[in-house]
Amino acid sequence: MSPPAAEQPTEAEWAAAVSAITRLPADGRVLLICHVNPDGDALGSMLGFGLGLRRLGVRQLQATFPGRPEVPEPFRDIPGLDLLVPATEADPDPDLVICFDVAAVSRLGDLADRLDRAGAAIVLDHHASNTRFGGIHLVDPDAAATSVVVEKLLVRLGVPLDRGIAECLYIALATDTGSFRFDMTTPAVHEMAARLLATGIRPGEISRRIFDTRPFGAVRLYGDVLGRTQLEPLAAGGLGLVWTYATLDDLARHGQRPYTLEPLIDSVRCTAEADVSCVLKQVAEGEWAVSMRSKGPTDVSRVAVALGGGGHRLAAGFTGYGTAAEVVDAIRAELVRGAAESGNGPADLQDQD
Ligand code: AMP
Ligand code: MN
Ligand code: MN
Repeated sequence: MSPPAAEQPTEAEWAAAVSAITRLPADGRVLLICHVNPDGDALGSMLGFGLGLRRLGVRQLQATFPGRPEVPEPFRDIPGLDLLVPATEADPDPDLVICFDVAAVSRLGDLADRLDRAGAAIVLDHHASNTRFGGIHLVDPDAAATSVVVEKLLVRLGVPLDRGIAECLYIALATDTGSFRFDMTTPAVHEMAARLLATGIRPGEISRRIFDTRPFGAVRLYGDVLGRTQLEPLAAGGLGLVWTYATLDDLARHGQRPYTLEPLIDSVRCTAEADVSCVLKQVAEGEWAVSMRSKGPTDVSRVAVALGGGGHRLAAGFTGYGTAAEVVDAIRAELVRGAAESGNGPADLQDQD
């Protein structure tokens, strides 16, 4: 069964966003915020749009994200980094707040108060689970990345793509499409990539920097974490679950920062025998950032939302509490519930060819 057609931003919403930006006073203060633990789409969409606003003449401009003000090593050369300020230095009451790739207020951490204090708030996002917080919603669940929405808004604002903006949006698009491998890699996505590449950016060099470079300590860390991966073929209604976990001690032993663990889910989800894959990344004693992926049959967004998180059908996450075993127990239980509701139990599987 195909999902119901997702709701696109309306013309009124586009117009409201354009007007909120173009009607800013000359000294109007704008605060850009992306989600905690920013990924390529969050950072690239935010900084690419920031560079666009700068081209429009916006001078009082800050970009930020909640939590530790640490940019992951792979993004240390992304254009627009000079816009970035630590959350503690973010404007307490800007005229306009713009959020990027943020599905729910919880992903804004301590910066959530800016939504109430700002004169206006625009939300650019592509999560089906978006809770529609903030005032002006540019949320397109059919968009492959938030940067797709960003490019559309830049067009409406009359801002041309330059190399800096294009590199940011390319990093965002390549990140969320798995380097143009996932199903949402539509003709429109390739057309957008073509527009970005036409500015002269270097995809080989960008991809090497963002996806294909990591310290030797990370390679050894991956060995440890992948070495303890568990396969449970009977979980998820017989579709199979594969999971592993990484502790703070693992990171310390190999001298690595938490963001080093982000690509690990891509190695785990390769497992042919499981539809659902999970990586539990310890953030503190009894607290885990959980990444979940599905190959198709399982809606991991439903599981993540049920456990307090969010995301997309095939890629979602949540914060888990307790021991790693307890978090996996909770996932297993939700997967059983989901399989029962969709009639996707082992008996149904036996009926298939
Ligand atoms: P990740 O596994 O961190 O790459 O995240 C996959 C997807 O799940 C992304 O679209 C995230 O926005 C979403 N996601 C991850 N963690 C959370 C969370 N704690 N709350 C809400 N959404 C999340
Ligand atoms: Mn993201
Ligand atoms: Mn995204």
